[in-house]
Amino acid sequence: MLEATTALHWRSGFVGIKQWSAKASFVKLGRHLKSKQVKGYSMNIKDDMVVQFNYTLRDEKGEVIETNEGREPIAYLHGHDNMMPGVENAINGKAVGEKFTVTLPCTETYGQRIEGEAAQQRVSVKHLLGASVWKPGMTAVVHTDHGQRQVTIVKVGKFMATVDVNHPLAGRDLTFDIEVVGARDATDEEIAHGHAHGVGGHHH
Ligand code: ZN
Repeated sequence: MLEATTALHWRSGFVGIKQWSAKASFVKLGRHLKSKQVKGYSMNIKDDMVVQFNYTLRDEKGEVIETNEGREPIAYLHGHDNMMPGVENAINGKAVGEKFTVTLPCTETYGQRIEGEAAQQRVSVKHLLGASVWKPGMTAVVHTDHGQRQVTIVKVGKFMATVDVNHPLAGRDLTFDIEVVGARDATDEEIAHGHAHGVGGHHH
């Protein structure tokens, strides 16, 4: 029922995206890549590639909201709606090794804020993930048909909670520092499934 009013331009975002280990068959920065570039070869990101990137997310004042610094790069299958559209568009066509900064309107990241009662949904407490005791103002994760979503607790009873379905970052202009650190062609199976497999990806 949550899904009905959250048709935002925001899917799982970075929440719940699995981290990749540094191994795997990615083209790594360094001598190997440079020698390939000298020969006129460069790997530009396009659909059906598994892309690995690092990011730092900043608010309007330049304050860091979120970063994967010190952790494994994010990895996803490009061109299959696995990443928020603004980030995917910004990465499209970039080369492995490129670093860039892009400021995106909310419509390309976590969506516009839904105001008033339309933003509130009743959810069974057992579907709230992230804590065992809930209080107003806390952020919970819920599973929807479109993947995991972050919601904010408005009030909570014994069995049911009222949540605000706006992502905590909805309505904000956000700046991303992005470094594309790896890319490889996806396998036929990954393309058929619509997500990345392998180290850090889906295992099934
Ligand atoms: Zn799969």
